[in-house]
Amino acid sequence: MNVLFPALREGSPAPALRFGDRALSHRQLASVAGALAERIAGETRIALWATPTLETSVGVVAALLAGVAAVPVNPKIGESELAHIVGDSAPSLVLAGADDELPGPLAALPRIDVDATEPPEEPGPALPMEPADETPALIVYTSGTTGPPKGVVLPRRAIAHTLDALQDAWQWTADDVLVHALPLFHVHGLILGVLGPLRRGGSVHHLGRFDTDAVTRELSGEGTMLFGVPTMYHRLAVEAGRDPALAKALSRARLLVSGSAALPLTDHERIAAASGRRVIERYGMTETLMNTSVRADGPEATGTVGVPLPGVYVRLVDDAGQAIEGGDGETVGEIQVRGPNLFVEYLNRPDATAAAFDGGWFRTGDMAVRDAAGNYRIVGRRATDLIKSGGFKIGAGEIENALLAHPGVAEAAVTGVPDEDLGERIVAWVVAERGPDAGPPPSAEELADHVARQLAPHKRPRTVHFLDALPRNDMGKILKRELHA
Ligand code: ATP
Ligand code: MG
Repeated sequence: MNVLFPALREGSPAPALRFGDRALSHRQLASVAGALAERIAGETRIALWATPTLETSVGVVAALLAGVAAVPVNPKIGESELAHIVGDSAPSLVLAGADDELPGPLAALPRIDVDATEPPEEPGPALPMEPADETPALIVYTSGTTGPPKGVVLPRRAIAHTLDALQDAWQWTADDVLVHALPLFHVHGLILGVLGPLRRGGSVHHLGRFDTDAVTRELSGEGTMLFGVPTMYHRLAVEAGRDPALAKALSRARLLVSGSAALPLTDHERIAAASGRRVIERYGMTETLMNTSVRADGPEATGTVGVPLPGVYVRLVDDAGQAIEGGDGETVGEIQVRGPNLFVEYLNRPDATAAAFDGGWFRTGDMAVRDAAGNYRIVGRRATDLIKSGGFKIGAGEIENALLAHPGVAEAAVTGVPDEDLGERIVAWVVAERGPDAGPPPSAEELADHVARQLAPHKRPRTVHFLDALPRNDMGKILKRELHA
């Protein structure tokens, strides 16, 4: 059986969690989470009101110690999605902070307030025995980028595996201090961001919300690592170009990691130019946790999501269902994954679970190419990012990167729209650059010509729509299904 948090069991006095001026050592966390674990022992499934606070981290650790499956719930969630998640997962009680006001379906459940107050320096309760590796640990709902969120049942085994594989790729140690500004109801912020440092015996500084000044302050102080989503790195890239203190803070970071969606090449380049540091991309999903990463100690692989993590098998499969061999950097296939990092099932969805597998391989729905060094480059999602136009298969990401390289473009998304002649035609959705140094906004014609010049004439968008903002979810992912011509 896998001990998930050795430093908690050992009662280490090293710092574990900090939020503002409140902090807990591993020993203190063991004490407060151990006491809570005793109170929830015997439940089968609980909801966790996942505000970006110490309380949420304590709650999730308690659930893991008790072997009770926890369902983290986005506190900003809409009514219908909340009703879906609570109805689907049927928790027997809810953990929340004492001051949290819970909405309808959760307010109706029995509630335990999580107390993350610093405990006295005396030994807490003895921690319960570790549950078996296959015990469901978390039920995390997918981001809902392509459809309604699905409840993904994650066993302890997958969590332990992914965190250890990332340690190998990122050389993560007990001395690392993670600067944390991600939400706590998805894999990225909760499993990588909270459980990762705790498993290593290191610590997490919760910022509560992302802001570039706080990142500057933390990385100029004790912070050694930053995990972020592309919208955060975009803001850091823009700010680092004009704020030397931020550029210096980024240059001091041991590890800058981006994931959850592709980081545009322009942002990679701007951060490298301002700070001399490269941002490392990792690729994963709720169902498989982490699949691949650029290695901290590896060769330059900007624009790729790196190589499979130890123990994870990744293959590319063509439309005929055949595995693509070798690495020509051009042949596009679907990424399929197998290994100890995989989920058990979609909750209450045996049909969706069965459809998601090809033998033992999980079909990610993500399309990619592989280069000669074995690095994967994501082309996009099969459903929304692979445009079949005029007999060509065109990746939306490539066109988005070309648009973003134009100085007049701040944000870009590309979709395929049904077309009688072409099968699909390329449509671009653009937010024009509005910063203080921005020139006059570019015309649709100019942007379409720019893409055709940079890439190829058949990749020229037929239509360019200008928007004030792109529709995004709380991870900053672009919701292409909301872009209608
Ligand atoms: P839903 O499954 O509900 O539509 P979702 O797929 O966005 O939502 P997640 O499991 O949070 O939900 O996200 C996983 C997806 O994010 C991957 O399948 C992939 O498409 C995308 N992704 C993650 N990391 C990267 C990356 N580094 N580059 C490109 N895409 C990425
Ligand atoms: Mg998905």
